[in-house]
Amino acid sequence: MGLFDRIKKAFSAEPEKETPVEQDQAIPETPVESDATPVESQTPAETAAAEKTETDEPASLATEDDSETVSPLDTPTAAPVNSEPEPEPEPEPEPEPEPEPEPEPEPEPVEASAVTEESDAIEEVPETEAVTGDMQAAETKKYDDGLEKSRLTFGQRLNALFANFRSVDEAFFDDVEEMLIEADVGYETAMKIADELRDEVKLRNVKKPEAVSQAIVEKLVDLYGQEGQAEDNQLHFAPQGELTVFLFVGVNGAGKTTSIGKFAHQLEKAGKKVLLAAGDTFRAGAIEQLQEWGRRDNVPVVASAAGSDPASVVYDAVKRAKEEQFDILLVDTAGRLQNNVNLMKELEKVKRIITREVPAAPQEVLLVLDATTGQNALVQAKQFKQMTDVTGIILTKLDGSAKGGIVLAVRTELHLPVKMVGLGEQMNDLQLFDPNRFVYGLFKDIIVGDGPQKTTDTDVSQAIK
Ligand code: GDP
Repeated sequence: MGLFDRIKKAFSAEPEKETPVEQDQAIPETPVESDATPVESQTPAETAAAEKTETDEPASLATEDDSETVSPLDTPTAAPVNSEPEPEPEPEPEPEPEPEPEPEPEPEPVEASAVTEESDAIEEVPETEAVTGDMQAAETKKYDDGLEKSRLTFGQRLNALFANFRSVDEAFFDDVEEMLIEADVGYETAMKIADELRDEVKLRNVKKPEAVSQAIVEKLVDLYGQEGQAEDNQLHFAPQGELTVFLFVGVNGAGKTTSIGKFAHQLEKAGKKVLLAAGDTFRAGAIEQLQEWGRRDNVPVVASAAGSDPASVVYDAVKRAKEEQFDILLVDTAGRLQNNVNLMKELEKVKRIITREVPAAPQEVLLVLDATTGQNALVQAKQFKQMTDVTGIILTKLDGSAKGGIVLAVRTELHLPVKMVGLGEQMNDLQLFDPNRFVYGLFKDIIVGDGPQKTTDTDVSQAIK
């Protein structure tokens, strides 16, 4: 079964749900309440999650559903992809006094074994469990909302394609190619899809516009699934008790500092001891911006004066992180033009220092890309990839972008895993990347029509801890 059919199956099975009573819809952007989040009336699931985070699971941070070992590939169907027993649906909210430190097979904190294939993720999950739970629905909704603009735009493009549709001929295939390129799925992908479509149309004698449009999306999704088979979307953390260092790189304005701030917030809430390093000593205001995030997140920031050597800031930060036993150090870097050799050298120097002090670090070099820049982001990524060892992508501003199709291009042309996505302005809108939710969010109207997703609207804040 191709990814298209698996997603269709998974999401179509979504049970009807009542919209839960909304609680405080507005999650303030300014995370003033960052450390005070528990104030939000907790659902039992959240309580359970809160307890669980105390047990420290390094690989499982970052999304709001840290009640599970979060795998970026946890599909909407798939909270329990890992074998963790689901936190009982309705445990009395009473936080059990110290949940017997069950000799849980210590979740190997090292490099969370990457579940890299969506097929595993989806098919291993019993269908009944698959789409239950407000948190999962809320996450799906987050993707739905964040990708709305892209989805609508793609739908409009498809409509436009078929508006003048007369027959499936060569001119039509040219239009398909053009439409896909405009949708930012990437040139190679567009060509490939159009070619496959030609064959399929001949083979199956497809003529109706709806069938053709379904075939286009099906091919896109299936190609995406195939290309992702060896992809590792997991964030990798050091073994428990050792320092993890993540380096954030990218051009100015891509969303590095904001992503660090949001991520730090989530890590901190998950019980991690987090330190930030203001390695962007170049851009005016960057240090203050990170310090402000540090205050909001209640997380210390190592910084020095603007214009100082970023390598020395990072050295100080690593030293402090080791001495004071921080769990994780997030390093901001100067937004560099990818073709600026000096800045790229500086980045390598920063990285060398980290590795010299902590040989296994940095565990991740995350390239932050602004989705609204579409193909330009792809070009940037190609250049960054040549200059430094990028381990993954954070794709930001998807909420403000009609260019969500870029995710397909990143995978099929760049072969770099997207590890996190920015789906909105709120703290928890920085999400671990879930390819299946993403694809669903992008094409759901075609995958399941106006199906049940409309009934699963849960308040996102339900899932926020
Ligand atoms: P940097 O120069 O790479 O550090 O970029 P910043 O972190 O300063 O972000 C630039 C702008 O993008 C800021 O106004 C952020 O609020 C905004 N931003 C970053 N990520 C997102 C996102 O996922 N969604 C939206 N809507 N805005 C974002």
